[in-house]
Amino acid sequence: MITQEWETEINKCARCGKCRSVCPVFIETGNESMVARGRISLADALRNGEIFHTELLRDYLLSCKKCLRCSSICPSGVDYDFIIQTMLDDLANHLGIWLIPRIIFRLFLTRRWLFNLILKTAITFQQLIPLKRQGTMRHLPFMFMGGRWIPPLAKKSVLNKYRNTKKVKHPKMRVGFYVGCLINYVYTDIADAVIEVLNHFGTEVVIPRKQLCCGIPARSLGDAKTARRLAETNITVFEKANVDFIITACATCGRTLKRDYHRILGDHSLKFTDKVYDISEFIEKYFPYATKPLNTKITYHDPCHLYWGQNISKQPRDILRRSAEFQEMENPERCCGGGGVFNLLHYDLSLKIGEYKATAIEQSGAEMVATGCPGCRLQIEDLLAARGSEIKCTHTIQILRDALLKASPVKACARPREAEGNVF
Ligand code: SF4
Ligand code: SF4
Repeated sequence: MITQEWETEINKCARCGKCRSVCPVFIETGNESMVARGRISLADALRNGEIFHTELLRDYLLSCKKCLRCSSICPSGVDYDFIIQTMLDDLANHLGIWLIPRIIFRLFLTRRWLFNLILKTAITFQQLIPLKRQGTMRHLPFMFMGGRWIPPLAKKSVLNKYRNTKKVKHPKMRVGFYVGCLINYVYTDIADAVIEVLNHFGTEVVIPRKQLCCGIPARSLGDAKTARRLAETNITVFEKANVDFIITACATCGRTLKRDYHRILGDHSLKFTDKVYDISEFIEKYFPYATKPLNTKITYHDPCHLYWGQNISKQPRDILRRSAEFQEMENPERCCGGGGVFNLLHYDLSLKIGEYKATAIEQSGAEMVATGCPGCRLQIEDLLAARGSEIKCTHTIQILRDALLKASPVKACARPREAEGNVF
């Protein structure tokens, strides 16, 4: 597992500590073992035989949000993500993967029918347990995952709802939609908007039913075997679908498909990864459009995996400026504290990190907050519901859909946009 490449990356770190100034986890904890520099020191000690593979070491690694903020500021260009991922894989080889995640990853994530069955059971329980409600949000009792506010699971998943290709007359292109687990099982409204907008632009949308989880939860816990299996399956499924582009509306899935699949499978994956686009990136690159802007004040939260992970920040703002009354919040790129494995293991810390975000949203004066990641939406909805806030969280594509297709023309004019690289 320990390679020359890994050692080279460790040696690059100048121990300057710049990463400490931006790391959301370090800002809250002040713990040197919970920031890039400290973890790289641990990697150094591990290779020198000064420390060993222990659960404590794994705890320090899993306290990283993998937000990539530190890599963006690092003057030495350290590939921190590669260092930490190698250590996680190495730890999993030495200590194994915890039993429950191992069952979930190897049994459920790789078998869609079994995953569906578990989720159906969960829906029944969700309906039976009398939960405190606020709007559509339900409050989990403290014995379940620490009393968080969660949205209801969808009665019908996206992959069950859209069994056939969403065709249009005289399609200009054929696009594959990579849905992702949160949108498939919870935020099906985001998928509806993606399909409606793409169809509106004359694009046929294929939603391959055999697509699986992108693999990021397994990868985050060092289960390289499952992550590889999921990546291979998804690539095969989309190759068979014979599409021009592959679209996702999830920032984390997008980054995983674009970047991690290449890391996992090498150049063999390039035919797939080169086709992957975030939905906002895709629309702004290929479609000229006019809107009827909504009479709604809206602000935007940058998901880490879009902003730092894919360098996408202008495109969603351009969409929102054309679709509603856009207002920037303070430090919109600051992390909301969400993030799959981190959120589950460090819920209190994720709430502390999110406090700043919730306050910034409220102080922006907006009625809605848009974002480009269902994981961020989950976190922001939890934060806002806990404050009793009336501000709604949505996905950028839903605002665009409303401004394109549904809105009454509350503002006089629409502003057509110059198309860059129009493929028609
Ligand atoms: S900013 Fe880069 S070089 Fe400086 S301590 Fe952090 S990881 Fe090392
Ligand atoms: S990836 Fe994010 S959470 Fe992890 S060390 Fe870097 S800044 Fe901190």
